[in-house]
Amino acid sequence: MHQQSVAQLISGLRQKQFSSEELTRHYLARIEHLDTQYNSFIHVTEERALSDARRADQALARGEQPALTGVPMAHKDIFCTKDIQTTCGSKMLADFIPTYNATVVARCQQAGMVLLGKTNMDEFAMGSSNETSVYGPVNNPWDQNCVPGGSSGGSAAAVAAQLTPVATGTDTGGSIRQPAALCGVTGLKPTYGRVSRYGMIAFASSLDQGGLLARSAEDAAILLQAMAGFDAQDSTSAEQAVVDYPAKLNDSIQGLRIGVPKEYFADGLHAEVAQAIEAAVQVLEGLGATIKEVSLPHTDLSVACYYVLAPAEASSNLARFDGVRYGYRCEQPHDLADLYCRTRSEGFGDEVKRRLLIGAYTLSAGFYDAYYRQAQKVRRLIRQDFMDAWQDVDVIVGPTTPHPAFAQGSKTQDPLAMYLEDIYTIAVNLAGLPALSVPAGFVDNKPIGLQLIGQDWQEARLLTVAHHFQQATDWHQQSAASE
Ligand code: GLN
Repeated sequence: MHQQSVAQLISGLRQKQFSSEELTRHYLARIEHLDTQYNSFIHVTEERALSDARRADQALARGEQPALTGVPMAHKDIFCTKDIQTTCGSKMLADFIPTYNATVVARCQQAGMVLLGKTNMDEFAMGSSNETSVYGPVNNPWDQNCVPGGSSGGSAAAVAAQLTPVATGTDTGGSIRQPAALCGVTGLKPTYGRVSRYGMIAFASSLDQGGLLARSAEDAAILLQAMAGFDAQDSTSAEQAVVDYPAKLNDSIQGLRIGVPKEYFADGLHAEVAQAIEAAVQVLEGLGATIKEVSLPHTDLSVACYYVLAPAEASSNLARFDGVRYGYRCEQPHDLADLYCRTRSEGFGDEVKRRLLIGAYTLSAGFYDAYYRQAQKVRRLIRQDFMDAWQDVDVIVGPTTPHPAFAQGSKTQDPLAMYLEDIYTIAVNLAGLPALSVPAGFVDNKPIGLQLIGQDWQEARLLTVAHHFQQATDWHQQSAASE
């Protein structure tokens, strides 16, 4: 059952080939048996999963069938789940039990999905390797000595190891696409505003976007349809109609203009990743697309720009974790300053503290103009690069990451090397655009990803191109699941 796609599961459930309870028990058994190797789940919600599944079976028997009724899934542990521990990978929230659901959680529930559990992640979604979670690192199912990527590495590893058919993720600078690439799965970061951020614990509010990890573009299209849409509870959510994504998957891509940015093939890109991406571009050309070189001249500023803006927003968002309202509180503070200081010192890990210090610095009087305001201007230039490119092309493609998964521990002592992991993904968040990563080959026996970047609100087009690519290749069908 775990080899079936979401579309197959939907039809298998409706045709009574298996019940949702059987399917759910099957996945729960896989998690119990296999996740000791990967550590991709922080919390398995077994009782909840079985009660969701029984309810789904009753609905199926009555013939009431919202699209995804009875299909299991997992949420990144950044999405608030009512009455279920939501930790964000941090000691700070280790005992936090939300009183409400994130909109994404509520929508998946309304669609009839079954919640298997909450997936591991870098602390507060800050990271590219999933090594900063207080619940320990996640291991890449393709090579357990390697990282799965981050911060949605738990979701990526769980999908890759077939411990869940699909999972949610969030992407502030690459955290869906980068782990999708390193784990050989399909990852979609929608346009900023496409998916509600309500109840998604904030890291950098102007960049954070919820999305998903799946085994194919088709599965991604089905889940996006359930998750997307305007939400009055998120003031940055867009009043933009949700497209019937699955219905568009077979639209023609004849004559589609695809741009390949020359800056994405410069120094730092592994030669074999470059070759695999060039081969993938040829596949797209063979499918009828026209290929054109484009330029995104401010690409090399994107990481620096992001590491001013994201920590600034984080320092403001994470100010709420002060030991007073909720979350971790230090033992026996002797005054208010001691309460703040020790709560935050003890509750946050090193990478989070590093970001909070940088953010407080760049926002402080005297440095605000020199750093924060400058970075906002650079952000505008980065978006303008894409706007200029859209004059000539419809979609941009390139590598998702500079190389395949790296060894655990190899970059933890060098934050700059870690930050450069997102060199091809970060500009997309700064520009607010949608982007997708699909498996596109293997380098050193590990998967690598092809990134497709689209114009605002063009998720359907990205999914269509990815679907055509997946009809012509079988990279996405290779499985890391050992059994
Ligand atoms: N790796 C980037 C960071 O560390 C992006 C993280 C993300 O997208 N959540 O901030």
